[in-house]
This record gives sequence, C-alpha cells and structure tokens, in this order.
Amino acid sequence: MQYISTRDSSVRVCAAQAIAQGISREGGLFVPESIPKLSKEDFEQLQKMDYIGRAKTVLGLYLTDFTAEEIDRCVRGAYSGTFDADKPAPLRQLRDGVWMLELWHGPTCAFKDLALQLLPHLLTTSVAKVAKGQKTVILVATSGDTGKAALEGFKDVENTEIIVFYPEDGVSPMQKLQMDTQDGENVLVCAIAGNFDDAQSGVKAIFTDEKMRQQLSYKNMPFSSANSSYWGRLVPQIVYYVSAYCDLLERGENLQSGFNVVVPTGNFGNILAAYYAKEMGVPIARLICASNANHVLTDFISTGIYDRNRPFYTTLSPSMDILISSNLERMLFELCGRDDKTVAGWQADLANSGRFQVSDEVLKGLQALFSGGSCDDEGTKQTIRDVFAATNYLSDTHTAVALSVYEAYRKNTQDTVPAVIASTASPYKFAASVLEALGLKVPADPFEALEKLSSVSGTPVPAPIEALKGKTPRFSNRIQGQEMREFVLKHLGVH
Ligand SMILES: *Cc1c(COP(=O)(O)O)cnc(C)c1O
Repeated sequence: MQYISTRDSSVRVCAAQAIAQGISREGGLFVPESIPKLSKEDFEQLQKMDYIGRAKTVLGLYLTDFTAEEIDRCVRGAYSGTFDADKPAPLRQLRDGVWMLELWHGPTCAFKDLALQLLPHLLTTSVAKVAKGQKTVILVATSGDTGKAALEGFKDVENTEIIVFYPEDGVSPMQKLQMDTQDGENVLVCAIAGNFDDAQSGVKAIFTDEKMRQQLSYKNMPFSSANSSYWGRLVPQIVYYVSAYCDLLERGENLQSGFNVVVPTGNFGNILAAYYAKEMGVPIARLICASNANHVLTDFISTGIYDRNRPFYTTLSPSMDILISSNLERMLFELCGRDDKTVAGWQADLANSGRFQVSDEVLKGLQALFSGGSCDDEGTKQTIRDVFAATNYLSDTHTAVALSVYEAYRKNTQDTVPAVIASTASPYKFAASVLEALGLKVPADPFEALEKLSSVSGTPVPAPIEALKGKTPRFSNRIQGQEMREFVLKHLGVH
C-alpha cells in the first residue's frame, strides 16, 4: 500500500514514510492509494476478536510495510492497560436503536486518546524504518484535548521531543491545568495569544518554513506532528467504527438498512475515519456532521461554499471551535475523483481568500454521504439537561452538540435507522458547563465542581482528572503567534 498526496498524486510514499513525514512537501495530505475492503467473512472473524485484535487487523491492511510483530507491539503498547477495563471504545445504549460510542475511557478522558496512545508507537517504528538515528520533534497546535492526549502519548518516548501550543482563551481551566501540569522529560507546553486557528497556522508556517527545516535536518531533528491531519493520527480512528459495527452485530441489532453515524466535528478527523470505515465495508448509511456555532461545515454541506470569513466564536465545546477543518481536504480529494489539481486549487483559494466553492457534481456527492447540522451554546445546554432528564445519560458539551443535531435530523427526515453517536469526552472534563446546563450553581473551585457533578449523576470522577487535584502547574509560558518559530528554535538549542 502506497500513499499519495492530495495536492500532487505523483508523490508516492510507503506508510512508514507518510507517518514519519506527516505532511507532503507541497502541503498536501497523505491518503492511501486505495481503500482496503473487508468481506463478510472478515467481519465474522473480527466480531470474535477483542479491540486489540480488531485494531491489528485493520492497521495491517493500511500499514503493509510494517511486520506483523511491529503492528502487534504498537497496538499492545497503545491499548493494553491504558483504557478502563481494556475497552477503548465501548457502546452504550441510549435508547432503542440509539447507541453512544464512548471514546473517553483513556488517560485524558477524551477521544483523542484512541489515536494518540497509538501514534507514538507508529511514529517511532516508522522513523526507525525510514530515518534511523533521528530525534523527532513533535509540534502540536491544540484546541484543548489533542494537546493533553499527545503529551500523555509521547511523554518520555525515546527519540522524541514534544512541544504543545494551545490558544490562551480557547481551552477550559481543566484542560489548561491538565497540560500545564504535564510530567515527562521531553515535553514543553506554551500558551498562544489568539484562537486555535492562530496556533494551527503558526505550526503550519513552521512546517513549511524551508530554512527552518534545513536548520533542523542539519541537526538530525526533523519535525513531525500529532495533529489530526496526519495519517498516523487518522488510521487508528478507523478501527473504532469497525469495532462498533462488530459490537452492534454481536448485540443482534437490526442493521438491514445499515446505521447512521453522528459525529461532533471540528477538524473533520473523526468523521473522516467513519467515512473510511464505510468505504471498507462497514454499512454506515449516513454520516451526520454536527457543528457548534462555528458552523462552517454545516454551511458547506448545504451550499458547496466553504467560507471561513465569518466571526469566530468561543463556545462551550472548544475542541470544535475551528474554521479551517484540515481533514476535509482528504474528503474533497475523494469527492472530486482524486483530482490533485482541483484540490490544490481549492486549497489555494482557501489560503488566499478564505473561501472556495465546489462544483454542483461534487456538492451532490457530498450530500449523498453527509448531512450537516449545528447547535449553539443554548441548544447545547438544553440538550445536556433534556437528555439527562430523559435517560440519565450525562453528556459533555461536545457530545451534546451531536445529540442535538441528531434529534433535529431525525425530526426533519423521519430516518429511523439505528444511530451510533460518537461520545467524545467525559462530562467531567467540562464539569462547570455541564453543571450550568443542569441549572445548578457552579462552585468556584473546579474540584468542588467535580464532586458536585459526581453526586448529581451518581458516577465517579475519572481517576486521571481526580489525580490533578494535588498538582501544581509546571509550565506558564505565553507568547504571541509570531514568536512561535523563535520559541521552538530556542528550546531546541538551534540558532
Ligand atoms: C477534537 C474533538 C472533537 C472534534 O473532532 P475532529 O476529529 O477534530 O472533528 C470533538 N469532541 C471532542 C471532545 C474533541 O476533543
């Protein structure tokens, strides 16, 4: 299996190279040259396996230059002993035909753990294959959850150095505390004045800075990233949709018409993984893309015009406060018949004018697969309250956006095929917002808020969050977006 770039399909690299390199030289994203298929017999086999077995099978189809031993080592390293009850992606029934795919039982209580526990293993294995003896510098721009999950995944991993930038005003106090208290010898955390797009643009600028690349190559320290547009982040996410299907089969759910998948979306990574799973043979009917007030994707799905020229809102679901959804590029590549020139043109338009428009034909293809919807902060809170009252299920603010959009979709379409809703974070990660949504007074002390949420819901505070209690922050860096480059070079001792 080779990987090609969305902006230049003459670029062809093996999986290890795609993972080690992260982004193609001309700025495109790596995609598999073809999407592997799973047969009915494959699914029967997969159904009998645990998550680790399913992950090994799916990854084996994409990472054909890895040996079976390497894949086994990577997958076990990621998912053995790191998630509650060794079940990284359990399904929980919300009501008849509606299932929550709970992706927050890992070390940082958000779905990013599914990818970021595995990525360091994939990356170090890849680098050892294609670029022996190098130290990889991981640069991350985070809207909150990625940063902590990446830090946890990479801390003290040999031959890596990780630097995380988060937008000062775009993360919750708990997310900030999680990152600023991170331990590990090879980690650095820094706040950026601005929003997530500023942080992401800063990291992208460093990646495409030819002079800086040379300075670091010279020191044998290539950059890589843990951002969700990198193949090493995306491929682990396909697994849980395959796994969810196997679990639904096992539970005897009627899947005659397939099932819908609803995903609270930001950078379009999670929902894109569901698309790949669908292409592999998982009978996903519709992909329902849920956005918050930053509903650039909802508008795109309804009009074919992607336009980031609009106000940026800081919402209760900060990990979805994104106006440039990087992974959409891969979807566009598929939708326009894998035409690299067309994709490169749209991305140039986006970079130059903040906007692009796809043809009617591409729009039709998009709408054949996706439904979009959005929900503002009021709707988010209302949904948390209503769902808790009706089902006793306590959702976080991101998952609530998906729940709200799904209810609206169902009302509008009368579509009753079973639905799997991605539950992307523990409500304890956003305890203040969740308490407020329930109409309760929010204690000023964040740890008291956790206790209160626990007593209201009758569920325990997740151990990794409870453990933050006695910790004092280790990092207090704060810089402007333009200073990122210097900050990185200084930290690495390169001048
Ligand atoms: C990152 C994140 C999302 C958005 O996922 P994308 O893959 O970026 O679309 C949704 N919910 C939570 C809790 C997240 O951390």
